Amino acid sequence: VTPFAQCVRCGACTAVCPVYRLTGQEGHSARGRMLVLASFADTPSSLAPTEVLGRCLMCGSCEAVCSRQLPLLATFAAARGRLPPGAGTRPRRRQYIRRLLASPRLLRLLSRLGISLTRLALLPADSGLWRKLGLPPPQFSTSAPSLPTGLVMGDEGQAQLFAGCLARHLQPEIVSASLQLAARGGLTAADPAGQGCCGLAAWSAGDLAGARSLARRNIALYREQPGPILTPCASCQVQLLRYAELLADDPAWAAEAARFSARVQGLFDLPPSPACGRGTGERGDRPVYFHLSCHLRHRPELASGPRRALKQIPELHLVKPAGPDLCCGQGGLFQQAYPDLAGAIFAPLYRQVAATGAELVVTSCSGCLLQWQSELASCRGTMRAVHLAVFLARYLGEKQENSCSRRIDLLKLNA
Ligand code: SF4
Ligand code: SF4
Repeated sequence: VTPFAQCVRCGACTAVCPVYRLTGQEGHSARGRMLVLASFADTPSSLAPTEVLGRCLMCGSCEAVCSRQLPLLATFAAARGRLPPGAGTRPRRRQYIRRLLASPRLLRLLSRLGISLTRLALLPADSGLWRKLGLPPPQFSTSAPSLPTGLVMGDEGQAQLFAGCLARHLQPEIVSASLQLAARGGLTAADPAGQGCCGLAAWSAGDLAGARSLARRNIALYREQPGPILTPCASCQVQLLRYAELLADDPAWAAEAARFSARVQGLFDLPPSPACGRGTGERGDRPVYFHLSCHLRHRPELASGPRRALKQIPELHLVKPAGPDLCCGQGGLFQQAYPDLAGAIFAPLYRQVAATGAELVVTSCSGCLLQWQSELASCRGTMRAVHLAVFLARYLGEKQENSCSRRIDLLKLNA
């Protein structure tokens, strides 16, 4: 029985869909998307499925409230994988410079984010950032690494970092900050060379073979590295946890994928650092907004660590915008494909946060961070966005340097 056949048309998904709320079009709600997919199942060349699937952020809000608990994200991901070859993709890497030069908007985005073309040229072929930036992902090997000879689980105190593409290739301060935080949490964290993309971008695009290939590669890399696998990125965390499900039907990899996912932990789930202090998030004088990514919003068990880590800082006042937590409009490939729609989804969030007086936005999701940094760069205001790992590491570094009697200005620290 297909998910569409199980849908009871209750409409719960329409109330929470950022795209439907903006456009009011039934085809942009989860039930509407499924209706379009079912209606055009026999005409794969039709553009309608590409259109409705493309305008989905894969944010998971619909799935979180679905009265039938339908696997909506997996349904959309699989449907994207069935789109005709070439739909929404550009297969040749050598086109990218030409496209960059032909796209002032893309060049502006890269320069706002401080990303140079040289840096981009060093981006590995299998990084999900190619897709996120709307550039043609180059071909990469999908051959599976060799099978393990035996899993070595960790000694006490050892851990491995999985930094994610943004940190590893474009904003390396996130890597050093993460290693510092792990050390402060009492762990000796290694940063294994050869880390691949977590595969979320490939999975979201419906490229399940590509996502599985990246999963196998990461599993093989970490199999000999002892200890928990810590990640500072909310998106990567959700995808790494998905490896067990992604490879469940692969007899050669299922058990090891399950073991890998069981080792994955959010960096901010480490015990609070005593050096931080004992804040509550309510008594500080610096208003800061914590942007919870959609991935975490629907997984409360994953969301508590980052909030707890932030609240330790006594100088910080965690603002609560009037209204529910809103999506930032990044949505993996969505921002690139539909920049106007993404901007329109971001606008109410920005207004809501600006109204609180917050000048600093902190998030633990690399995709959301890219979206905030790029949108804020085009606003005239003084608001800035920073990764949670960087924010915490800068704060702790400043505290240590000043042996911490005075209050720290969080804004100057993150200027
Ligand atoms: S995943 Fe998000 S954008 Fe897509 S249909 Fe569901 S709520 Fe809407
Ligand atoms: S919430 Fe679930 S069951 Fe209800 S209309 Fe949406 S997809 Fe269908």
